[in-house]
Amino acid sequence: RKIGYAIVGLGSYATRQIMPNFAGCDHARLVALVSGTPAKLDQYGADYGIPKTHRYSYAQFDRIRDNPDIDVVYVVLPNSLHAEYSIRAAQAGKHVMCEKPMAVSVAECQAMIAACKKAGTKLMIGYRSRFEPYNRLAIDLARSAHVGPTQIITADHGFPIRPDQWRLDRPLSGGGSMMDIGIYSLNAARYLTGEEPVAVSAVESTDKSDPRFRTVEDKINFLLRFPSGIVANCVSSYSSSHNGYRVSGTQGWIDMEPATSYSGQMMTIRKDGVTAPRTLPATGKTQFAGQLDHMAECIISGATPIVAGEEGLADLRIIEAIYRSAAEGRGVRIGA
Ligand code: NAD
Repeated sequence: RKIGYAIVGLGSYATRQIMPNFAGCDHARLVALVSGTPAKLDQYGADYGIPKTHRYSYAQFDRIRDNPDIDVVYVVLPNSLHAEYSIRAAQAGKHVMCEKPMAVSVAECQAMIAACKKAGTKLMIGYRSRFEPYNRLAIDLARSAHVGPTQIITADHGFPIRPDQWRLDRPLSGGGSMMDIGIYSLNAARYLTGEEPVAVSAVESTDKSDPRFRTVEDKINFLLRFPSGIVANCVSSYSSSHNGYRVSGTQGWIDMEPATSYSGQMMTIRKDGVTAPRTLPATGKTQFAGQLDHMAECIISGATPIVAGEEGLADLRIIEAIYRSAAEGRGVRIGA
């Protein structure tokens, strides 16, 4: 049978991107919904044929334990609720898929990993770009030195944020652009190199008179130094539009823009003086379906997800170092 998912939090990402993509899955299906809004449970329950017995309020959440149709709980809530619901899902004996950022602190990430380990359940973070064909190709090309050994990565992510968002409320978001969108620059730098940075240097620029940025940061630029000597120069912004990265090697570069969008990735390669677009045949499976199926296949086979909890923890560890570097106005060694 297909692996059954319960979606927790029926907001924009869950309802517009994740839920419609179960239709394209080979191994995953939507079996339950959790929401604080009865009208949403009625609406999406009817749309997706979810029986009333499989619709839960937050107060009823722990009853998922008694529902054998639910294999995975997918947490798509504001960031500061990720840890609580992931841990409760594990305690109910369910596998956990959790959105990025994994949580709002290293300590929370560690608690989530420990809870899943104790329960014997899998934990995966929603790093969907790892299931997107152009990003997978970029990883292969960068790590195989297609344009020569990588020297510099630039990775830019940002969007002008609307004022009416929990993302701007630190108790719910845990931080500003870095937690939400800059994490794509960070994660890309890590997956394109396959290395873990050893040092970070960050500069923040936030207009505190802008009512959007009362409690969280706007722009934060950061440099990461990797053990091989690769440097990543990264942008995170809540006031300008960016979605791209470039891998520069000794013989040219690999450019992706947009890079981590929901669709429409565009790759251009310059090698030995020749610049050309690189296109892949359409696969038919979206990155969202790929992500949902990957967790399902891991549950079936017993494998560990390629973006397990440790991946989310690694990002949070670096994000904490980035914040520390920006606050203290100096470079910070990671892990020190
Ligand atoms: P959203 O505001 O559209 O949805 C959040 C949902 O949580 C809403 O339905 C809201 O009612 C519910 N909620 C429950 N308790 C809440 C509380 N105490 N306060 C506020 N809302 C509460 O947000 P979203 O854009 O769907 O983001 C949800 C999560 O998904 C975030 O962690 C975000 O980082 C992640 N996300 C990931 C991607 C991706 O591409 N991987 C894209 C968008 C969002």
